[in-house]
Amino acid sequence: MTIVLKRLLIIFFSILLISVVIFSAMEITALTETEKEIVEVYEDQLSAILFSVNQYSQDVLASWIAALDPINYEATDVEVSQAFKFQTDHPSVQAIFTTDTILNEFWYSNKMESLQEQQMQDMLRENQALIGRLFQYLAADYQKLEPLTDAGARSYLIYVTIHNGDPKINGLQIDPSIFISEILSPRLQVIAREGMILSAYSEEEDTVVFTTQPTELMEKEIITSAASNLWLFPNYYLGVSFMDHSLNDLIAERTRNNIIMLVIINLIIVVGVMLIIRNVDKQVRLAKMKSDFVSNVSHEIRTPLALISMYAETLEMNRVKNDHERQQFYHIILAETKRLTELVNRILKFSKIEAGKQSYHFTRVNLNELVEEVVSSFEFHLHEGGFEIEVTAVDLPDLMVDHESVATAIFNLLDNAIKYSETSKKIQIATGRKQNEAFVQVKDFGIGIPNNEKKRIFDKFYRVEDPLVHNTKGSGLGLNLVYEIAMANSGYVTLTSKLGEGATFSLFFPINEESS
Ligand code: ADP
Repeated sequence: MTIVLKRLLIIFFSILLISVVIFSAMEITALTETEKEIVEVYEDQLSAILFSVNQYSQDVLASWIAALDPINYEATDVEVSQAFKFQTDHPSVQAIFTTDTILNEFWYSNKMESLQEQQMQDMLRENQALIGRLFQYLAADYQKLEPLTDAGARSYLIYVTIHNGDPKINGLQIDPSIFISEILSPRLQVIAREGMILSAYSEEEDTVVFTTQPTELMEKEIITSAASNLWLFPNYYLGVSFMDHSLNDLIAERTRNNIIMLVIINLIIVVGVMLIIRNVDKQVRLAKMKSDFVSNVSHEIRTPLALISMYAETLEMNRVKNDHERQQFYHIILAETKRLTELVNRILKFSKIEAGKQSYHFTRVNLNELVEEVVSSFEFHLHEGGFEIEVTAVDLPDLMVDHESVATAIFNLLDNAIKYSETSKKIQIATGRKQNEAFVQVKDFGIGIPNNEKKRIFDKFYRVEDPLVHNTKGSGLGLNLVYEIAMANSGYVTLTSKLGEGATFSLFFPINEESS
């Protein structure tokens, strides 16, 4: 029944714990969902900015292309500045070229190295399909600029025209970093709102081309809190971040705090559950010990009562053979009555201490005399059991303790020494002094106590689960009384024992030289 109850409790709390852990996990993932949404909002903002920047770049380039229209296609090796007939040249434009659709006749604004020429032509050849589409757009009256990069990582903007009825493929070789820092930077400065940092950077070259906040703080990580690449320069990115900290920092900090909180809550629940299980376990054990106690005590009461009534009946019927036997019967009746009285007293004392009603009268007590008193009360018992008892005493100052309770404690220790001695019949009692403490030691050479039981034997109702102990009469109250009495007299009790070799219990009390 109790095991079933324990199991049910463990199952119940496990379910509770699992639910809490699942809930925590859901909370954490829900947080990431919210964060994703926040990131999306920032990305939307960035898209709006980016759209405007891209549109602006396109407008600028469209105006340049318009200015290029009337160039002299027959000329060769023209400087860029000459090619811009209606506009001053711009340092971001590295070269201009035009060619027919079969890439046969090329015209360059200035001399190109043969390697660049080759790489540029390869680039056009590889992108024939794309160029075809540009002509379709042009037929629909839309002159589209297409970014391309050659094998030498040079950036080109390609567009198509019809010149005197002939289709032409044209291109501008642009240095994106010069274009961004000179053409786009004023625009970015205007767009960037207070607290916002806009930066353009190249992912490949790992360099920041331009930023509206040029400080040492401009780490790449901050810049990329939300980023997107530029239409006309796909290798270049525009990033948005905030003055104080990046969005990633904010998210990380919030997530960290939430996780810490969830971990703490989970820990509290785990500790709570463990405490409850421990408590329930303790209660269950206590209930079992109480029921054992009732059966032990009834057994202890029934045996002397049966003996007393049997011998009293024999005496009453005058069935005794001689005076010696009569004397023996009286003796047994007296001894059993004493045992009963001791047991009842012990139970009464225990319940008094439990209820906090035990009163103590501290007087000057000579520990050696007290030990002698207790030993002599055991004389008959010891003699009958064939015990050899050895008492060693040293001179001690008087102690301020409660005479009656300390006598009970020593009595219980001696009683146990006899009960758990088994075949060994030797008991040693000694008094002594250790610094400012006096002690009395009761040593037997009996069954001993296993290490794992040493702490629990002082618990109320506790008895070691051992057949040897089981066969010995007991209530499980004796050592608990010893412990309580030691505490009430400002002392303490210690135990050393080895299984099968006996046990030594020592009661320590403080010596107060002034009062003695
Ligand atoms: P009990 O009435 O069972 O003797 P106690 O509280 O006096 O109850 O002792 C608790 C348990 O401690 C005993 O049941 C026994 O198992 C163990 N014990 C106590 N004293 C000794 C001893 N001297 N040697 C071995 N075991 C002991």
